Amino acid sequence: MADKIAKRSKFVVVGGGIAGVSCTEQLASQFPYEEIVLLTASPLIKAVTNFKQVSKTLEAFDVEEQPSSIIEKKYPNVKVIQSVVKQLQAKEHKLQMENGKELHYEKLCLCSGGRPKLFTHHSSHVLGIRDTDSAQEFQKRLSKAKKIVVIGNGGIALELVYEVEGCEVIWVVKDKAIGNTFFDAGAAQFLIPSMATEKPERATLYKRTRYTTDNAAPPCTPSAECGVQNQDSGSTKKLGSALGPDWHEGIKMKGAYEVSRRVHVEYQCEVLKVYTAEEFLNSQHEAQQSPQPSPDPSSGPWPVYIQLTNGKTYGCDFVVSATGVTPNTDPFLQGNNFAVADDSGLKVDDHMRTSEPDVYAAGDVCTACWEPSPMWQQMRLWTQARQMGWFSARCMAADLLDEPIELDFCFELFAHITKFFNYKVVLLGKFNAQGLGQDHELLIRCTKEREYVKVVLRQGRMVGAVLIGETDLEETFENLILNQMDLSPYGEELLNPNIDIEDYFD
Ligand code: FAD
Repeated sequence: MADKIAKRSKFVVVGGGIAGVSCTEQLASQFPYEEIVLLTASPLIKAVTNFKQVSKTLEAFDVEEQPSSIIEKKYPNVKVIQSVVKQLQAKEHKLQMENGKELHYEKLCLCSGGRPKLFTHHSSHVLGIRDTDSAQEFQKRLSKAKKIVVIGNGGIALELVYEVEGCEVIWVVKDKAIGNTFFDAGAAQFLIPSMATEKPERATLYKRTRYTTDNAAPPCTPSAECGVQNQDSGSTKKLGSALGPDWHEGIKMKGAYEVSRRVHVEYQCEVLKVYTAEEFLNSQHEAQQSPQPSPDPSSGPWPVYIQLTNGKTYGCDFVVSATGVTPNTDPFLQGNNFAVADDSGLKVDDHMRTSEPDVYAAGDVCTACWEPSPMWQQMRLWTQARQMGWFSARCMAADLLDEPIELDFCFELFAHITKFFNYKVVLLGKFNAQGLGQDHELLIRCTKEREYVKVVLRQGRMVGAVLIGETDLEETFENLILNQMDLSPYGEELLNPNIDIEDYFD
């Protein structure tokens, strides 16, 4: 009965992903004498480690899955409760949890992330990849697969088609070029040859401790696979945190063939229909032959068939749907009055406040609805999850203490650093001329297999850049975008490889 009595906390954060953990840590250090409750469905939380400010706006860090005891040890005022939130009663400032308890809050931050947007929920042969469990399921199925179809053109699809070996991959993209979320057609052209070359060998040891949810207590030595007790009641399976950018390291992405990469891209089309083997046999359709000679000439029957809008039908072992995420808002909407954006995220203002009093949101679950800086846009990436989580904590604190707070500098310029096809990739500002219409020009420099540099200029000023390879230009370009210097006198010389641009603008 004691458990039924509502508990009251000043600060409650929902979600143990990067956004929720960053928010909790910031609150914990700003209010060392207040208890901060972190409520999360997943048995492991995601912590940011080895944080490095690469330049004014570019940041790099690792994401480590940890048992919640680590954050509780680091911040004695943090209490982690592992339970799914079933319902939010915003008027009463109350959360109902799946474990039967309820929790009152003064200020709440929702960081419940998103779940893969599957193009169908009716086929067991269609997978989404989001968390450790789904990545392991993918690996298990891949080990027996000879052909898979990957749908989507964002970061996850890009990584998958590059990493998968020993299996034929049919990659279905709705755009004219691969990687459209991040690149233009020129950059795609630069990257395409990498799909046909051998991948460089990777060290097999993990860089840091990894925890799994299915073993016993963690022995916790670096470079070893550690386990952690799963105190889960069962329903958390679908609610794990999003994987970090190195999610495929340590996961063997090998199919059933003894071949290296074998990728065929179907451009400008989407999935029209999914058939089971039986449905397909009864249909009048013919399956597409493998576009490349196959080590195994057997052409089916396959467990699943995918008919595309370009008229082609492919049989395969399974399909990966990598078409983005839908914000996890379900338990919070019913009975409340949240403003929800077109992409289904909870709308937040420049104080990370939702439309419900004392409820903030950060990370993949929210949609930034403030007037953004001309060089920034929201993308559901781990850097922004960290920044939003951290900033929402500062906003909660400022509101509680009745202090003013301005939008943080990190929202001034979009800056993302990552790796695709084993190349370093830096994206700055309006890197794809987003929202600029015809009002821009591009300067491009490309050296095959070495670098691709693209600059977006508007009225002679730099507003965005894509840097692929070891270009060493990120800091200079970041400064040029931030200071909006008139670059028209330099013209194409800006990308002249014989000019040391860093010295030029010093
Ligand atoms: P999540 O990490 O999704 O965390 C949500 C948390 O909320 C989880 O702990 C979950 O258990 C909890 N939760 C959900 N519902 C409830 C509930 N009802 N009750 C209690 N708890 C709940 N980003 C990059 O920048 N670079 C990359 O290369 C990259 N690669 C990616 C690869 C994959 C395969 C995936 C899936 C994502 C990738 N991302 C990448 C995106 C990035 O991981 C996410 O944007 C980021 O992790 C989102 O963090 P979050 O804290 O908002 O949400």
